[in-house]
Amino acid sequence: MATLKNAAIAVKEFSKKIFYTSKKIKMEDYPNEEHLVKILSVENVTHNVKRFKLSKPDSYQFKPGQATDIVINLPKWKEERRPFTFTSLNDWDNLEFTIKIYDDHEGVTNQLGKLKAGDELILHDIFGAIQYKGEGIFIAGGAGVTPFIAIFRQLQKDGKVGNNKLIFSNRTSADIILKDEFEKILGVNFINTLTDEPASQYDHRRIDEAYLRENIKDLSQYFYICGPDPMIESISTDLEKMGVAKDKIVVEEF
Ligand SMILES: Cc1cc2nc3c(=O)[nH]c(=O)nc-3n(C[C@H](O)[C@H](O)[C@H](O)COP(=O)(O)OP(=O)(O)OC[C@H]3O[C@@H](n4cnc5c(N)ncnc54)[C@H](O)[C@@H]3O)c2cc1C
Repeated sequence: MATLKNAAIAVKEFSKKIFYTSKKIKMEDYPNEEHLVKILSVENVTHNVKRFKLSKPDSYQFKPGQATDIVINLPKWKEERRPFTFTSLNDWDNLEFTIKIYDDHEGVTNQLGKLKAGDELILHDIFGAIQYKGEGIFIAGGAGVTPFIAIFRQLQKDGKVGNNKLIFSNRTSADIILKDEFEKILGVNFINTLTDEPASQYDHRRIDEAYLRENIKDLSQYFYICGPDPMIESISTDLEKMGVAKDKIVVEEF
């Protein structure tokens, strides 16, 4: 079962690479780097999201928004690869990942949640669909915000946050990842909507066509969407219906 699942992930990633690069890639060219790294610290970000600081392999470079497959370096977990996004920037001394822990079953994130400083992970090659192309609206559901963390940190560092906007959907206010940091970076352009909790300072709505029409005036800008598949599907369809060009919609499915 695990082997089948890993094969499915590998095929998905392989097709992503073919889709997002002009160079033709053969299966034997499928890059399979392995970097052994140490966990330096683990901290809570929310009740079910943890921040992992890791040692950084030499000359390991990625673009904000990109991800890698992580494997836990323990015999029982060696066959289980799962994708996670870098939330650190290239010029940091260490790598950082911001990971939602699913405690409801014995998966990789559940095991990651039990690890501590000194434990080891294996990182694979770097990939990712979401990269910054220009000013626009970022729409995230839950842990789908992770590619946007590095993108906004980089924009802030470069003094280029401009009029970018983040619409962040969560079940409750306790689920909002890096609320203070996003408020600091984006100010009024950080918009939260909570589906399961009425809170006076936030919207209490799903992101549907009516919500998008109320919050978006300029349809010519970029739209970056990251979250669960059904959320991406419905928001992309709504945006296209509103008149947004397909090539202005950038998505990453979690
Ligand atoms: C490119 C990319 C980048 C990503 N980056 C990040 C990131 O930076 N941070 C982050 O938090 N996530 C990220 N994700 C999502 C992350 O990869 C998944 O959350 C992770 O793979 C889950 O692994 P798992 O083994 O814990 O759960 P899996 O077993 O793979 O299950 C995933 C989902 O199914 C449910 N599920 C499966 N089996 C059961 C079961 N038996 N009982 C109950 N529920 C079940 C889980 O609740 C969960 O919703 C990314 C995904 C992609 C594609």
